[in-house]
Amino acid sequence: MTPLCAHLKAQIARTGPISVAEFMATCLLHPEHGYYSTGHPIGRRGDFVTAPEISQMFGEMLGLALAQSWMDQGAPEACALVELGPGKGTLMADVLRTIRAVPGFAEAVQVHLVEASPSLKAAQHQALQGTPAQWHDTVDTLPGDLPVFLIANEFFDALPIRQFQRAENGWRERQIGLHEAELSFGLSAPAPLAALDHRLDDTKPGDLVETCPAAHPILQTIGARIEANGGAALIFDYGDWRSLGDTLQAIRKHETVHPLSAPGDTDLTAHVDFEALVRDLPCAHSRLSTQGVVLERLGITQRAQSLAEGLDAEALENHIAAHRRLTHPGEMGTVFKSIALFPSRGAPPPGYEQ
Ligand code: SAH
Repeated sequence: MTPLCAHLKAQIARTGPISVAEFMATCLLHPEHGYYSTGHPIGRRGDFVTAPEISQMFGEMLGLALAQSWMDQGAPEACALVELGPGKGTLMADVLRTIRAVPGFAEAVQVHLVEASPSLKAAQHQALQGTPAQWHDTVDTLPGDLPVFLIANEFFDALPIRQFQRAENGWRERQIGLHEAELSFGLSAPAPLAALDHRLDDTKPGDLVETCPAAHPILQTIGARIEANGGAALIFDYGDWRSLGDTLQAIRKHETVHPLSAPGDTDLTAHVDFEALVRDLPCAHSRLSTQGVVLERLGITQRAQSLAEGLDAEALENHIAAHRRLTHPGEMGTVFKSIALFPSRGAPPPGYEQ
């Protein structure tokens, strides 16, 4: 039994079942035993591989999209370059290297990283190799008076979700309790829930829907700053326009395992409901596209061809596989989606459609 499993069992025995959100938050961010607090989960040797760990081309395309957006908005002399949940820091390092080729942009940006895990903060510090940066625990302390150019890859899927099963007369919340002294899923008594009224039209009794209460305030803060000061946000994650069904997933060493099997030792994620993410935003948002389409529009294939020129047999094979993995429909190309935020008086960043 993991230390966190013992902690959760004792807590539930004392105070009763907990929501899926509380379970996820504890498993991922418990200061001592949480998944992101303890180890280095990302990369080939970790539990999962993310797009920037697959190829530098991912960060290069995002860097160029942000740089073009900065130029389209009159090349402001000072702005914040922000990443939410930077993991090992690879994506920000690739973006910074890319934007050095754009006159004025690298000099204009202050780097701000929003990261909850102390051990990943240390990894990011190392990846940035001396580039000055400020770390934040939440978006609330980001500078309020600068244009914001923001990237977030696989950040929103790590935020805790609540799950509700539709009943005849209301919704039952899925909870984690104890059954024969083991952690097990159960359901609360049904209750009406105004926040899910809009799901009464597309669900029937028995269906399960998810909400992500932490995402909305984060996007309200970012959206308000983009609208007031300018900037853009490029958000990549797996999910869809609207979620339906149980998408809570636990991954360990690249394999799917039961979410209750090893609390604190597995990565827990849920698909992102992009419709809920951008609801009531104070700024404009693009249409939702697939990751493959956005990367193609940004020129990843031309970049892949030019990088391929200097490679020998094995490196070339890996490079071709990485391009395929990022863009191909059978791989990350369609499961991952992307949406951009931008000021309502402006146009979407390159790669995105209004
Ligand atoms: N963007 C990176 C890592 C994705 S993993 C990549 O593409 O490789 C999710 C990241 O979000 C980790 O850095 C994790 O520590 C961070 N994170 C998760 N929940 C968070 C929260 N509530 N606040 C801030 N950071 C969080």
